[in-house]
Amino acid sequence: MDTINWLKTLIGFDTTSRSSNLQLIHHIADYLCQAGLDPWLAHNDIGNKANLFVTIPAADGSVHDGIVFSGHTDVVPVDGQSWSSEPFVANIHEGRLYGRGSCDMKGFIAAVLAALPQMQSAALKKPLHIALSYDEEIGCLGAPVMLAELARRGLNPQHCIVGEPTNMRMVVAHKGIHTFCCEVHGKSAHSSLTPQGVNAIEYAAKLIVYINQLAGKLQQRADLDQAFDVPFSTLSTGVIQGGTALNIIPNHCTFEFDYRNLPHMSPADVAEPIRAYIRNVLEPAMQATDPHCHIDFFQRENVPALDGADNALLQALIAQLVDNSQLSKVAYATEGGQFQAAGIHTIICGPGSINQAHKADEYIELAQLARCDHFLSKLIRTQLPKHKNRHSTHRNTP
Ligand SMILES: [Zn+2]
Repeated sequence: MDTINWLKTLIGFDTTSRSSNLQLIHHIADYLCQAGLDPWLAHNDIGNKANLFVTIPAADGSVHDGIVFSGHTDVVPVDGQSWSSEPFVANIHEGRLYGRGSCDMKGFIAAVLAALPQMQSAALKKPLHIALSYDEEIGCLGAPVMLAELARRGLNPQHCIVGEPTNMRMVVAHKGIHTFCCEVHGKSAHSSLTPQGVNAIEYAAKLIVYINQLAGKLQQRADLDQAFDVPFSTLSTGVIQGGTALNIIPNHCTFEFDYRNLPHMSPADVAEPIRAYIRNVLEPAMQATDPHCHIDFFQRENVPALDGADNALLQALIAQLVDNSQLSKVAYATEGGQFQAAGIHTIICGPGSINQAHKADEYIELAQLARCDHFLSKLIRTQLPKHKNRHSTHRNTP
């Protein structure tokens, strides 16, 4: 089946992150098994979602080393979006294929699956692997489960291409995303008796201002990276809740902020000063009125940045295969940082544009799919030994 037909099939499975992805995973697993391969799944805790991993062994049967093609199977919701056509039915119109997930990122997965026969008929010097995850769109929750299972099985792929939409350009680095939650526990009182209460909203506000000042300092650091659109690490408060009535001093306020860090910076760079401000400044002031008052501060999501510094070999290989070998760095995060943290050299390169992702009428240009097909064909061929003898080619079947 070709890439376009695979993409139509994949879009037909509604794999919005809140739903199970198992129907799609089992469909792909059946295809891989029919091709004589031995895919394995790594499920989430409650068993309603799974990662899929499969190895196409090298010509000598080896399953170690090699390149991983990585994609996430989940898609963002279509709720509240105004689509011109049914989002889970692929629709081709004027050189574009429309559907939820067409560009982010079932297009890449479709191209990889369509290339499977080429992978199996090539005399691979090193194995190729396909890694499909769940729950990428809600904080990259699936990939770490797969990577843990990979380590448990003793598999050690050396390189990874994450096929998020880059217009088939080579993205070598992205920022990390770390989200934090602050729960301010104050003390209620009638709003006419302010000295008897501890106003949780007002303490939350002090902390938000402090975080905003910290953001200003990040912007003034000397070690900015101009290759990013926004060349510094950022902090942004996005959600706040607190209070029940205007005449009650609120005893509870919760807010969340995200920290998007340059690859050389860590979450501790902001978490430590924030924690110190809470412990040394805010809590003592709150506890002067009531010793039970406090602020809980904890991290939610932890998606590490991808740092392009250590993957020169992979960059050199990919540079030969893409039309535009210029390296870029992007603001959005991917599972790439998690693969890198697992010791796998990783870059991002996939069909479609991030500008079409997550929107109503998401689409991918058919020309982008064709470029991805071409890229994968060349990549598979560059794996071939110089003096390939087709007659001696053997496939490793389990
Ligand atoms: Zn994506």
